[in-house]
Amino acid sequence: MRLVIEADQVIDGTGAPPLAQGAVLVEDERILAVGRRADIGRPDGARIVEAPSGATLMPGMADVHVHLAYSGQPHKAAFRSELIEMSYAAVALRASRYAYSTLRMGFTAVRDMHAPGGTIIDLAAAIGKGETLGPRIKACGRGLSVTGGHMDQPGFADHTAFRDLTQPCDGPVGFRRGAREEIKRGADFIKINSSCSDGNRIGVWNRQEMTNEEIAATCDEAHMWGMKVAAHTVGGDSLYNTIVNGVDTVEHAHFTDERIIGEMVKRGTYYVPTLLVNERNFEFTPEEQGATPASWRWLNASREAKWKTLAAARKAGVRICCGTDAGYMIPHGPMNWRELALLVHGGLTAMEAIVAATATNHDLLDIDAGRLQPGKLADLVIVAGDPLSDISVLGKPEKLTVYKGGREIH
Ligand SMILES: [Zn+2]
Repeated sequence: MRLVIEADQVIDGTGAPPLAQGAVLVEDERILAVGRRADIGRPDGARIVEAPSGATLMPGMADVHVHLAYSGQPHKAAFRSELIEMSYAAVALRASRYAYSTLRMGFTAVRDMHAPGGTIIDLAAAIGKGETLGPRIKACGRGLSVTGGHMDQPGFADHTAFRDLTQPCDGPVGFRRGAREEIKRGADFIKINSSCSDGNRIGVWNRQEMTNEEIAATCDEAHMWGMKVAAHTVGGDSLYNTIVNGVDTVEHAHFTDERIIGEMVKRGTYYVPTLLVNERNFEFTPEEQGATPASWRWLNASREAKWKTLAAARKAGVRICCGTDAGYMIPHGPMNWRELALLVHGGLTAMEAIVAATATNHDLLDIDAGRLQPGKLADLVIVAGDPLSDISVLGKPEKLTVYKGGREIH
């Protein structure tokens, strides 16, 4: 089936100036041609969609840091207890609703950054088979932590036995085995936690949790399978060591310096600043989150550092991505767009923020979309407005018409 979408403005996701009076020709699930409306024409038999006056056609966005297994409620204790009380089937069923609400907001792809068991791996497969509707999902399964590390936190009674919430590994051999287990389960990439970001336990900010040998072994294993490794990081030497030992994407990465930024540029490391989750902390009181004075101090310091890191990364030419941490303090769907707004607040142009969420994010995901170019998957958004002059239009569901693989999402 052929489809032509015509719009007053076309943003192709590459950062090129927008095309006025443009159109995209789609055949089945892929883009066949992009150009001026007059050049694309209206081929016989094609369905014609004329976007409303003043509308923008752009690639579907991606959010490369979400947790579909989690509800987004803010309190640490409640966050833990909901996991204790839910079966994995219940988690997956609820996640399918979150996946749909994310897709509906123009995010046609997400990267799930850790979930209990294989819940989101299974959801990704169900969406892939068309059994339920959601964005394209790349999932890591369980994140890998050292025993007692960032995602294997203490604080539970001895009689509380947790299995499969995270995967504790120790030593290079343990991490290799951990990576292999997630890959066997169906993971698309590997997530590690190389530094701790719990303000109560951190002692020294930027404390490293995995040894360099453990980081290197995990990266070697994943790369052997053709997969990327993402690392939860904080900053300083632990971040530097994470990067130079081969990680492909760094998450959060609050505290940096010239040496760290230089390595990211040299190695092409993707940087996912997750600005929204940092800002979101300050939309609640410490009490609402269950924060202690120590963790609150840490949150303030990391928030301040993050804006400096973002500016330095932009100036140096680091590959900046768009990821929110939705699921942790952030509901799925209505707020994802705010990460683009925060990138703009932090000094990116609106076009650069859109490139981060489209082309760069899809490069990170290894999904053949995110650019309006012939041959790419037809994951598209019609925006009734101009996100270049007002990025907040991306947060208005009534202004968005979403296509995934050439099919409109209803
Ligand atoms: Zn996260």
